[in-house]
Amino acid sequence: MAVRRSAVAAASAAALLLPAALIPATSAGAAAPPQATGGEAHSRPPAKQPVATGGGGAVSSVNPYASQAGLEVLRRGGNAVDAAVATAAALGVVEPYSAGIGGGGYLVHYDAATGKVGTVDGRETAPAGMRPDSFVDPATGRSIPFDEAVNSGLSVGVPGTPATWAKALEEWGTVPLASALRPATRLADRGFVVNEEFRAQTAMNEKRFRDFTTTAELFLPGGELPVVGSRFRNPGLARTYRELARDGVDALYRGGIGRDVVRTVKRPPVAPDSTRHVRPGLMERGDLAAYTPVRRDPTHVTYRGLDVYSMAPSSSGGTTVGEALNILENLPVRPADRAQALHHYLEASRIAYADRNRWVGDPAFSDVPAKELLAKEFAKERACLIRPDAALTSPLAPADPRQPGSGCARGTGGEEPYKGPSTTHLVTADRWGNVVSYTLTIEQTGGSAITVPGRGFLLNNELTDFNFTPLTEGVPDPNLPGPGKRPRSSMAPTIVLQDGRPLLAVGSPGGATIITTVLQTLVNRLDLGMSLPEAVAAPRASQRNRTVTDAEPAFLDSPERVALERLGHRFVRAPQTFTPSPEIGAVAALEFLPDGRIQAVAEPRRRGGGSAMVLRPCR
Ligand code: GLU
Repeated sequence: MAVRRSAVAAASAAALLLPAALIPATSAGAAAPPQATGGEAHSRPPAKQPVATGGGGAVSSVNPYASQAGLEVLRRGGNAVDAAVATAAALGVVEPYSAGIGGGGYLVHYDAATGKVGTVDGRETAPAGMRPDSFVDPATGRSIPFDEAVNSGLSVGVPGTPATWAKALEEWGTVPLASALRPATRLADRGFVVNEEFRAQTAMNEKRFRDFTTTAELFLPGGELPVVGSRFRNPGLARTYRELARDGVDALYRGGIGRDVVRTVKRPPVAPDSTRHVRPGLMERGDLAAYTPVRRDPTHVTYRGLDVYSMAPSSSGGTTVGEALNILENLPVRPADRAQALHHYLEASRIAYADRNRWVGDPAFSDVPAKELLAKEFAKERACLIRPDAALTSPLAPADPRQPGSGCARGTGGEEPYKGPSTTHLVTADRWGNVVSYTLTIEQTGGSAITVPGRGFLLNNELTDFNFTPLTEGVPDPNLPGPGKRPRSSMAPTIVLQDGRPLLAVGSPGGATIITTVLQTLVNRLDLGMSLPEAVAAPRASQRNRTVTDAEPAFLDSPERVALERLGHRFVRAPQTFTPSPEIGAVAALEFLPDGRIQAVAEPRRRGGGSAMVLRPCR
């Protein structure tokens, strides 16, 4: 195994002892937050850096303003949870199309004091009025068009993000919500400098944003795309954050913000000249009042002597990454034969996906065999399908993890449609060694495209993560809509421990490709001898029990591709997202190095590059 044993497990303690000479007076990590600039047209955003190494705590996210917000909280003595909430709230300002208080997510936490990993399931829930056929058109008996579902009140789930923040702070934080929201509130007031990514993401949403008056007013200032280099302010969101700071999250679940959310969902603010057919939603104020984030045990598998913790259902992230790792433990995955290693990675992912699609949904509604899916014996059976000389044929049938001996059966199953990427991931660590891995989303980039009037945030379209009709005819589907139900997610915020101490924290956006991105990053780091920055930067391929495997252009150009095609793998360019060059995922991660330093890692290029920061940088 490529990971060396951690010599100094308590990274934070070591970090506190860094010689002063190693601590630069200025650094990206120590940069002051952006100043108010009185509305000048052009200025520069803070610098991004994909790797930062040092001590005292770390933050990695897709955006430097957001990472700065987390670092500010750490600098003031806050812990990893305080910093995670601050970073997430700032992402609601600077990445409003990926995440915000109109959405949901999953937070995984390592508690240095107890050595325990805990999670908060802050997934959106369906309103009480939702039925298994709510996305079926009674006139045709068929699913309503996906695009129509996305841009509708019907797809808006009860937001879980504010409750997640409150719950995580209550369980493990040290500051009140009001303090954690402060940097983001200031950022919403003062504004951020528009970059290429923000403009590109607005451009890809422009048409549908114009269909909703409140969204066009906020995100198309003066009727135009935001100009790169201009300052984007969101006073409505700043007010909303202040209200949450003053009144707590009840302002949303029982108060004025919630009233506005429900009104908007029931009567989306469709532009008078829009020709779009916009379905109203089913959400009532009682649905907001009934929302509860769930504290769950994480999923857990051992992998080559390490302990891998991730998110349990309602997300499929933890069970699917875990099952794939368990399968891979039965196979060689070595740097000396990269084609073979990738073959095994793709096949393990294919099989784990077949089982995910059949078995994973909201555990409050169906009996999800999470424990059985993660059993080593089951993985061993499933691994017997993998041949050294030929790729499997998808869609592969699921096995029943409760039926010993069924794992090696062949057959065909259902293939989940690609739904497009969005979402964002962040990791934080503090001087005490606590760690957070947190993925949050409003589902599609730009969510439902519906902005709550005067409130400065978009509503999610998370309920489109339900299957509108059963994936395979005649086979029970755990992911059909239901009242109060959480749609199945792929989010896989993950923390890896070595000898009970944190080694890695990793996660990614990217819809269903989240699982493969996390898995591939782990395989790159733990099996293929790559450093964490290399593991994150490496070209990606994503096999999700489909006949073809999505791949990034650099993967398609790699020598391994030819070898894999000889085995029968078929690759296609991953669907284009924000840039002309298709991308899969956007990892934020960190590693506790053997000498006790923390290495925070973000994407060097994807999504325009992310932002890794440490409190006390040192090489
Ligand atoms: N809704 C997706 C999920 O929960 C995340 C959104 C995305 O990354 O596309 O799996």
